[in-house]
Amino acid sequence: MPCAAKGTSPKIVAVHLLHADLHSHSTASDGTLDPLALAQRAKANGVELWALTDHDEVSGLPAARAAAQALGLAFLNGIELSVTFAGTTVHIVGLGIDPDQPELAAGIAAIRAGREQRARQMGADLARVGLRGAYEGAVALAPNPNLVSRTHFARWLVQQGAAPDTPSVFRRYLTQGKPGYVEHRWAGLGDAVRWIRAAGGLAVIAHPGRYKFSPTEEFALFSEFKSHGGEAVEVVTGSHHAGDVGKYADMALEFELLASRGSDFHDPEESRLDLGLLPERMPLPRGLTPVWSRWPHLST
Ligand code: AMP
Ligand code: MN
Ligand code: MN
Ligand code: MN
Repeated sequence: MPCAAKGTSPKIVAVHLLHADLHSHSTASDGTLDPLALAQRAKANGVELWALTDHDEVSGLPAARAAAQALGLAFLNGIELSVTFAGTTVHIVGLGIDPDQPELAAGIAAIRAGREQRARQMGADLARVGLRGAYEGAVALAPNPNLVSRTHFARWLVQQGAAPDTPSVFRRYLTQGKPGYVEHRWAGLGDAVRWIRAAGGLAVIAHPGRYKFSPTEEFALFSEFKSHGGEAVEVVTGSHHAGDVGKYADMALEFELLASRGSDFHDPEESRLDLGLLPERMPLPRGLTPVWSRWPHLST
């Protein structure tokens, strides 16, 4: 556990530099490591506060919490909800949630039901361009049958030789306008924030640098998120390039949002950043208030 000294300035520095990784995926969604292996990896990589944030799914949390506890690693329950905003898929992370809260549980069950239909349509569309058996292939690669994602299709397509690696398979087949992309309506932004808050959690805009919004749409996302009760934004993430960090640090200040930090780790080979190996030079920029200030008992 990190040590935040008493007194103003040392405490600010210590809390600011906490080695937190608050965005990661397990086999409960589209990660390839189970919660125990992830906890061990986080610990080995020096993480001091970890959150598991599977897509639309909480079933990995009990095992993750137990493993973290056994390793003496501070842990927050998390989730990453799929949302449609201005015709684009946006991800909202929830931290510190009660996974059994009924409103949240009903919300994520509804999102998962939509995933099943979408996956079948993706399979049918890919068959039309000669890639038969993609639905069955993706399902076979998904440890959680309720959570079939584009990532599982991508892995199967790479195995079939349709493209050399995951990024190129997404570019060729799985993004808007490409043969395996199915338009899908996820949860509303207000619903997702409300479910997270109902479950006692804090809502975070995930990897804002990844969305291809116009400045007006992005302003609308931040304003509406805030008006629904959203409280934080990811500033340092595996999905951000150096320029994004400064931009979203400024937006966190402008919109008075707390700042979060997470690798978005899925797999040792595929992910840009390893779990907990956010570059040392990428602590949260000074002047921001970290999300973990909300749980002082975990970060001191
Ligand atoms: P889904 O929720 O089924 O739409 O799948 C989204 C997931 O696909 C994301 O969480 C990422 O793990 C992965 N993903 C999306 N875009 C890309 C990309 N361009 N390259 C690699 N992985 C991606
Ligand atoms: Mn993912
Ligand atoms: Mn995401
Ligand atoms: Mn993620």
